[in-house]
Amino acid sequence: MSRRGTIKVVLATLVFGLAKLGYADAVHVNPPIPEVEAPSKTGPQQQSIYATLDFILAHMDAQCAVTLPGASDMVRALEADKQNEQMILVGHGVFADPLLAAFTGNSGNVPPGYMMVVADNGGFFTDVVPGHPKNFLMIANEFHGGTNQAKVEILLHELGHATNAPGFVSDFGSREKIDHNNALVMTGCKNVIKSAGKVGTL
Ligand SMILES: [Zn+2]
Repeated sequence: MSRRGTIKVVLATLVFGLAKLGYADAVHVNPPIPEVEAPSKTGPQQQSIYATLDFILAHMDAQCAVTLPGASDMVRALEADKQNEQMILVGHGVFADPLLAAFTGNSGNVPPGYMMVVADNGGFFTDVVPGHPKNFLMIANEFHGGTNQAKVEILLHELGHATNAPGFVSDFGSREKIDHNNALVMTGCKNVIKSAGKVGTL
């Protein structure tokens, strides 16, 4: 086992998002709305986000569709034509807090036109925690950051917020509520997430 692997301290990733238009409930709680530097809808990170969203579209099954009604339509809306940046609603950027993997909602912390934002330096792309080389970023307490399963779980979770999926709660700053939402995704979309482990890097 590698030296990193022997370290039992695991940083649980705060995958969090905001219920669509629900951020008004969250602006007074900690942590504050995340700060995002260098928001972008292009580059290799954007291509990985598209690959993950396209994977979700292609592998959506009945159980996951019941868990996240409207998720496939939301994916098409987020991606738009992947060309016109004014129509694309998903992007990425450097988060001030790398323990956040992604969020849904826009309170002015990113430019207009960004509805879902993925952290360049968070669990979607990496399991490395800046300044904590012996710790991992874990997604849903199960997947190392940067793995296909982590990517799919993160975006399914955010799609749950974007579509106000049944049982989903606004989990801004609440570890318990984040876990609650992750449990819905991990149960209802387990086949989609599992199948992500069988394909090349998203
Ligand atoms: Zn969330």
